[in-house]
Parts: sequence; C-alpha cells; structure tokens
Amino acid sequence: MSHDAQDLSRRDMMRLGATGVAAAGVASLPAMAEDEKAASTLPKRRYGRTGLEIGWLIGASDWTNELIPRAVAAGVNYWHKAQRWTAETMPRALKNAPRESYYLECVVDRVNGNHERGQIDEEKHYQFVKSCLKASGVGYYDVFKFHFGYHSIDEIKTNPGMVKAFERLKKEGLVKHLAISQHHYNNIGGNMAWEILEYLADHRPYEATQFFYTYNDRKEIGEWIDIAKKKDVATIAMKSMGGVGRAANDRKFQALLSDEKYKGSSPAAAMVKWLKSNPNLTGAVIATKNFDQFRENAAAATSLAMTDQDHAMLALLADYNKGLTCLLCADCVNHCPEHIAISDIFRYDRYAHDYHELNRARSEYSTLAKNATTCVSCGDCLPACPQEIDIIAKLKDVHDLLG
Ligand code: SF4
Ligand code: SF4
Repeated sequence: MSHDAQDLSRRDMMRLGATGVAAAGVASLPAMAEDEKAASTLPKRRYGRTGLEIGWLIGASDWTNELIPRAVAAGVNYWHKAQRWTAETMPRALKNAPRESYYLECVVDRVNGNHERGQIDEEKHYQFVKSCLKASGVGYYDVFKFHFGYHSIDEIKTNPGMVKAFERLKKEGLVKHLAISQHHYNNIGGNMAWEILEYLADHRPYEATQFFYTYNDRKEIGEWIDIAKKKDVATIAMKSMGGVGRAANDRKFQALLSDEKYKGSSPAAAMVKWLKSNPNLTGAVIATKNFDQFRENAAAATSLAMTDQDHAMLALLADYNKGLTCLLCADCVNHCPEHIAISDIFRYDRYAHDYHELNRARSEYSTLAKNATTCVSCGDCLPACPQEIDIIAKLKDVHDLLG
C-alpha cells in the first residue's frame, strides 16, 4: 500500500466527492482499515429501544473477506445475518476485536416452508439460535431478528412462538434484543408491512425494524419512519437502491451521466445521501459487492447534504425506473384476482438485475407457490402501479429469465 493511498483522508474524499473517490481507481484505494480519519467519519445512530449506537451502513455476512476489515475500520459495527458465520469463517477483524465493540444479528426464518408457507415454531427457533451459537463460538447474539416477519396482525396476537423463543434465549443470556424484518403479505390476505410494524411499535418487546424503502416509495413507509422515531423503534431500510445496479450496467443510462448537471454525483451516492438525509431513519442495508461500492456508499453517508447534482441524479434515476423497476410497494397485489405475489416475483428480478445474483433469484423464484405463469392477463393490476410497469409483459420476461 503506497503512502499516497494511505493518506487519502476524509477531506480528500469530500473534495473529490463520492464519484471522484470511486473514480480514483483500485490502485489508489484509501487504506480505510488504517485511515483513522475516514474510520471515524461513518455516522452512528441510535438503534431504537435497544440503545445501541450503530454505524449508519449495516454490514452483512456475505461481504467479501477483502471488504470486511475495511468496513470495520470505517465504522461498520452492526452485522446482518451473522448466524452464517462459524468459528472458522468468522472474519478475523471481528474475532480479534473486543466482543462488545460490534453487534451480531441472528436472522431466524420460519420452518417447514418459505416465508409464506412456513410456520412459527418456538422450540425450533430456540434450537436454531443455540446451534448457530455453538457453531460460531461468539457467545451471544446482540439481536434476534424475525426474518420476513408476520403475515398479519392477527398472527401476532395468536402466535407468540417467535417472541417466546426470544424470551427463553434472552433469559439464558444468549440474545439481547428483538428485531423484525417485515414484508407485505396482502397477496395472502395479510397486512402491509407498515400496518404490522405500527402494531408492533405499541406492543413490546420488538425494538427494531427493517423494511423496503427507496426513493419514490409509498408515503405510508415515510410516515411509518416518523412514527417509529417518536416511539423509539429503530428503522432500517432494505432494497433501498431501486434501479441503481441495473442502471450501472446500462450503457445508455451511463452515457447520460457525463452531463454537467450530474457532476460529482452518482446514482448510488445520490440514493445514499437521500436516505441519510432523513434524520428519523436509523440506517440502511445496502448490497455491497466490493470495496469500491462500499467506499462510494460510505463517502455519501458521511457527506453533509444533498447537492443540486444529487437531486438531478435522483430525478434521472426515477425517470429511468419508470416502466422498468418495481419498487416493491405491493399496490398491484390487492388488485390481482389470482393473488399472485407480483412484488415478490419482481423482487427476484431485482436480485438478478440490481444485484446481479441470478442463481439466488432463480432459487427463490422456484419456491413460489404461484409463479408468473399463473397470470391470466386480465390487466386488473395495471392501473395500480405507480411505476407504470406493464406487469403482464414483465411477468413473462421474469419467468423466461428465472423459470
Ligand atoms: S394481469 Fe396477471 S398479475 Fe395482473 S391482476 Fe391479472 S392475473 Fe394478476
Ligand atoms: S409492479 Fe408496480 S404496483 Fe406492483 S409492487 Fe411493483 S411498483 Fe408496486
């Protein structure tokens, strides 16, 4: 690592801007792991009722070995899906750090099926967390997170199995806090994510939440974030980079970026700055493949305010997304007589096009009870889509790709 590379400080990053930093190239990457100034700049926010102070960018166990130590040095201290790490695969950057200096989240899924057909089973969830702890040797998980969440408010009232599993583990000192990652379930007669989250905010012990949220999203999600702040419930945005990955691979879109009005911005940086500009949002989980992407996101998250160029960039991205990128709002689902999980199907399309994870997309698509071929082309869903997507045609395209 050259001295010059090590000396790329926060001031340099701000001078260059997010895009400029990214353009600096791999050869002159700032050594964030060794750069105290950069390391101290990733902002922290209170993780709701847990009282934890977490880095605004959430880390994930599928990040690369090259990226994780640099992310740790840059201030990432909360690790999503940490139950995937065993004693052998646990990153050294965490192993060598005091256990109380970082937070590990254990994600708990329904059993005997996917998020729609699977069941809540207290004993199996309890045993799952214990087995992950045994394999990892980490001692305890800071956060027990119910993955995909409840189907309805009625299910919360009638099925306490997930909470009971948490409470047993907490009593034994094996977990500390309870969180939920909530999806919409209107396709199976359940509730929308914000309805469930608002109910949970008034009914402890849930302390932190995660949900879909991106630019141009439904107003109810923005309202939920404000309510959650008042009730001291943490809010983490996921699937927040709507269309960014797809646009990165689109030559026509990329050609537009040379215009002066976008100078110093990028789709990813503008999106991160927009998310971060909401003081009530605790943080964001952003799929990150490499250090270049992380550096761009981290630089944007530490920037002070959105620029005119960032606003112009988001307008361009929104325009690009129209008719193309599903924002996962699930509005269309209410109108489908076949109860097709349209937004789930299009979420898998985003795995393929935004994250470039085709195998994952195909694997998840294969678990659907009703795939895109069950569409009868009635068109009832079309007027509901704020993105003006030709849902019938897109379902066919997605099936061709993932079926
Ligand atoms: S066109 Fe297909 S997806 Fe849309 S409402 Fe009709 S059956 Fe459902
Ligand atoms: S297809 Fe349109 S209405 Fe349906 S979830 Fe996506 S953005 Fe929302």
